[in-house]
Amino acid sequence: GIKSLFDLEKMAVLGHGSSGTVYKVFNRKTKSIFALKVLQVDQYVVSIHRQTAREAEILKRVDSQYIVRCHGVFDNGFTETEGGGRGLCFVMEYMEGGSLQDVLRVHQRLPEHVISGVARRVLEGLHYLHGMQIVHRDIKPSNLLVNDMGEVKIADFGVSHVVAGTRETLDSNMGTFAYMSPERFDPERWGGDNADGFAGDVWSLGVVVLECCVGHFPLINSAKQQLDWASLMCAICFEERPEMPETASPELRSFVQRCLEKDWTNRGTVTELLGHPFVKKRT
Ligand code: ATP
Ligand code: MG
Repeated sequence: GIKSLFDLEKMAVLGHGSSGTVYKVFNRKTKSIFALKVLQVDQYVVSIHRQTAREAEILKRVDSQYIVRCHGVFDNGFTETEGGGRGLCFVMEYMEGGSLQDVLRVHQRLPEHVISGVARRVLEGLHYLHGMQIVHRDIKPSNLLVNDMGEVKIADFGVSHVVAGTRETLDSNMGTFAYMSPERFDPERWGGDNADGFAGDVWSLGVVVLECCVGHFPLINSAKQQLDWASLMCAICFEERPEMPETASPELRSFVQRCLEKDWTNRGTVTELLGHPFVKKRT
């Protein structure tokens, strides 16, 4: 692990998120590069603190080739350039390729064999997390990171939680609306109160796979509609699954269909989908 933040030197900003900024940093001691996520001072309030304390606990237990590694969590500042306040820092494995969102911005659509590889790795990662009773709850393109070998890994446990947690912790975070399953978006209508949350991660993966295939957020025709709460509600909870390009293979169609089953009790499980022809390794 990393012993001290003082060994780290900021090199560049990798990106900004809703919870803070991610930097590329250089470890002077080991001469190696990491990513450092810093939660901004003004957001460092009690609820965030609780959330990240939980995140830190989870991260320490996670050890998988399908999950972005966390090398340390520091409850002190790396903020001398931002006014000297305090912050909370996560030292992470540096993923050279950026996020799947960045990749999609450049390439728009991805070829099916690439999407298949992404889906398989995310499923393997979810299989690992779910086996530890962890629901991720924020699977989306910006939280799927790519390394220089082209491998995709799951990142960012900002709103994930241990299932065994209390009801209060289950409800306190909104996650990311756009990739949210019907049972999370509208629990009353879609039986969300009985859902364990695992099926919600499968839904989000389905949206991501579809997005890789069509090249834009797939549930809303963004040229015509606003990405607001009401149109998301319609798209997620009531509308038919969007059309897929004619070129999409039957395997891809079937995979997305299993993920985007609105009734979570009928949705494909991670274990089932790991055996789906779309992600099975073809030799
Ligand atoms: P949200 O706050 O809703 O989760 P986000 O995922 O975009 O949005 P962050 O998790 O703070 O926000 O990440 C911001 C950006 O920094 C990411 O989109 C990604 O491009 C980059 N990034 C994050 N972690 C790493 C990492 N370990 N290696 C390389 N780049 C990273
Ligand atoms: Mg993120």
